[in-house]
Amino acid sequence: LFVAFEGGEGSGKTTQSRLIAIWLRDQGFDVVQTREPGATKIGMRLRAILLDAAERGLSARAEALLYAADRAEHVEKVIRPALYRGALVVCDRYIDSSLAYQGAGRSLDPEDVSKVNAWATGGLVPHLTVLIDTPPELGLSRLGGAVDRIEAEPLEFHERVRKEFRALAAAAPERYLVVDGTLPTGEITREIQDRIREILPD
Ligand code: C5P
Ligand code: MG
Repeated sequence: LFVAFEGGEGSGKTTQSRLIAIWLRDQGFDVVQTREPGATKIGMRLRAILLDAAERGLSARAEALLYAADRAEHVEKVIRPALYRGALVVCDRYIDSSLAYQGAGRSLDPEDVSKVNAWATGGLVPHLTVLIDTPPELGLSRLGGAVDRIEAEPLEFHERVRKEFRALAAAAPERYLVVDGTLPTGEITREIQDRIREILPD
């Protein structure tokens, strides 16, 4: 079972994916909790390039390809092997982040970004994607002073990202859970648990 967490800056994906991984482990499941970008050795180097404020001038296409390269490595070295041995994979960000940030955010053709990522991952799609839908003003305010390359983008960029995430979820509701990111943490966790319970293996 492969569950991805998506959402904008400060939406609480990292917190929730951690809580869900713990909850699943407590039930005795073999759980691999992972994230993008940067879950592999090469991925960590790609993450450093992608997030380094000094890389501000990176072209949109190069950015999209580096994220796809990180994902290709992640799928081949971490996610597929975990799924193959029957583990549950909980992943902080996946393809939708590229469709939202590199596609809608950087104004690349979403079809192109989608094709590149389908190729990079060999077509691996999560069984469930949890979208923690959060107004960018709220998410960004939660981050406090920590501003890197993306967080420094204008609010309008983050609005486009949010809109794309929501559109992706709306297009395939059976594969998504959209949670209101303004709810208290515990309530969000409960909503996610309720949905995951329905798809857990015995
Ligand atoms: O998930 P996390 O906040 O660690 O992501 C690090 C940064 O990378 C974020 O600022 C996020 O917006 C950015 N990112 C991106 N495109 C992706 C994935 C992440 O711009 N496909
Ligand atoms: Mg995070």
